Amino acid sequence: MVRRFIWVTVSKHQVFAWVILIGLIYLLSLPESYHLAVLSTAVLPQEVRFNVMIDPGHGGIDSGGIGPGEVYEKDIVLDIALRLRDFLEKRGIIVGMTRASDTDVSQLASIRGTRYQRDLNGRFLAMHEGAVGISIHANVTKDPGEKGAIVFYMRDSYIDQIYANIILEQLEKVQILNHPEPIARSNLLLLKAKPPVLLVEVGFLSNASDLAKLTDPQFRQVLAEAIGQGMIDFLNFYRLEQSE
Ligand SMILES: [Zn+2]
Repeated sequence: MVRRFIWVTVSKHQVFAWVILIGLIYLLSLPESYHLAVLSTAVLPQEVRFNVMIDPGHGGIDSGGIGPGEVYEKDIVLDIALRLRDFLEKRGIIVGMTRASDTDVSQLASIRGTRYQRDLNGRFLAMHEGAVGISIHANVTKDPGEKGAIVFYMRDSYIDQIYANIILEQLEKVQILNHPEPIARSNLLLLKAKPPVLLVEVGFLSNASDLAKLTDPQFRQVLAEAIGQGMIDFLNFYRLEQSE
């Protein structure tokens, strides 16, 4: 009887241990994005894996704004983002991207909901994997006279405001500004991420002069380098600030 009792007890423990082990092996074998989706229900990624997280706006089914001649915002901002990534990586900065191809980001979400909600949630979660982040967009509006770049930052965030001013200062060297100062917002989810995150509108696809610039790969390179230099300046400042 005793032997049987011991055997049953050990067996239960063994079964339990095997279930845990197989479960862990299964979870570790899943792609990174699936980890986020499954393990972080309302929990943010704990680990900062990148110096910089770049978010090219829109993607996949979501074209973003559309300028004359079928110029899609998603394509323009992805190209600038990839150039920005290359610029930063050449300078030893570790870069993460919410997307690096023509796809949306809804697969990174930890919530159920519409594709739009999951896409936004995926980008928000991903921002926490970078020490600092940037989301790149281009504008489209009814007024064809509206042009130039805009930098949005989180309202009442001192550090984000400094970051925004540094980026604006660099942008001003290469692109007209729509607004002479960065604009504080409190209703943009991405800006609410814990790390300093900005949303940059690089220009208006609905404006002929901005459209001509943004469809020119040389200009997109200049723009990416200006943003990149601003990010390096801010990273240097931010590292000092954090080490104090
Ligand atoms: Zn956009």
